[in-house]
Amino acid sequence: MSGPVAIWAALQGAVLEDFKPASAYGAPALIGALAVCALYYAGRRRARGRRLSVRGFVRSIFPTRILLHPSSLIDMRLWAVNGVALASAYGMLGLGLFFWRDEVVAGLTHGWGMHPPARWPAWTILTLATVLQLLASEFAYWFAHYCFHKIPALWEFHKVHHSAEVMTTLTELRQHPVEIIAFMNLIGLSTGIVFGVMTYAFGPGVRPFTLLNGNILLMAFLVTYGHLRHSHMWIAFTGFAGRILQSPAHHQLHHSANPIHYDRNLGFALAVWDWAFGTLAIPARAREPIVFGVGDEAPPFRSAVAAFGVPCVRFAGHVGRFAAGWRRRSTAHEVASGAQAPFVIARELRQSKES
Ligand SMILES: [Zn+2]
Ligand SMILES: [Zn+2]
Repeated sequence: MSGPVAIWAALQGAVLEDFKPASAYGAPALIGALAVCALYYAGRRRARGRRLSVRGFVRSIFPTRILLHPSSLIDMRLWAVNGVALASAYGMLGLGLFFWRDEVVAGLTHGWGMHPPARWPAWTILTLATVLQLLASEFAYWFAHYCFHKIPALWEFHKVHHSAEVMTTLTELRQHPVEIIAFMNLIGLSTGIVFGVMTYAFGPGVRPFTLLNGNILLMAFLVTYGHLRHSHMWIAFTGFAGRILQSPAHHQLHHSANPIHYDRNLGFALAVWDWAFGTLAIPARAREPIVFGVGDEAPPFRSAVAAFGVPCVRFAGHVGRFAAGWRRRSTAHEVASGAQAPFVIARELRQSKES
């Protein structure tokens, strides 16, 4: 196979991969999102004493003013590039869970020696693996997300996602490749550590409870309201539930252009790490007026090339300014600490001789 045939085969594989049942864009996740939307639509219409109609439902979940918005058209292009064209390449750039699991097992065996596996009932190991994998994956997501918000050079990449002015289910993949690769690797590392330690303690074969081949808790999120994070449907978890789980409204607040919402709700499915580290903003039960985007900070991207290229240029600018500042500081430090004193003394001696 060569030339266009090979490219077509690779694309076909990537498309099929993108829509497999366990994928975010597979049938279970999309049907689940549709079902939650239907319940949301019916609940709102009933509360207002209005009748239900299929036409009204379709209009409410696919409003043309959102679908045809220039921001949404960029989402579609980035989704195609990230989810289809580059999906296989991302897979090759990640040191995944299994790599790190084996490294951790090798390291622990080297340091502490072999030992017989602990004999716990199977269901307790399965439960522990299910919960710890979710917590580890969520922590890595929270930490990576925090860094991409707080470090100005990294924010340039994450700004692509936040520059969305309207939200659709495709906004999830409105991301810069640098960000995707960083998140993927940190999640692989954190979950690999969990499975490495558990494999060392309980022996090979440690796995979580699964649904569609994924962690059952993460998949439960994905096949219900996971997609509605990027939507205009205000479904808010408040009170204790709002401290444990990220509702769609949590993430809509995260996309708000209002500075009071900046750097809040950085988790993916769980709110626990936001709660623990003080970055949680629990949404109000009733819809809060929110404008999505980055406000006046940057003009919106209107092409996929700009969305991929501009952050790289700005990142290089940050690195250049940082390097120049560091050089200035280190020179000032050398002068202040007398590191250049021998040269100064030599010059003064020479001047005194000449006079
Ligand atoms: Zn963010
Ligand atoms: Zn988002």
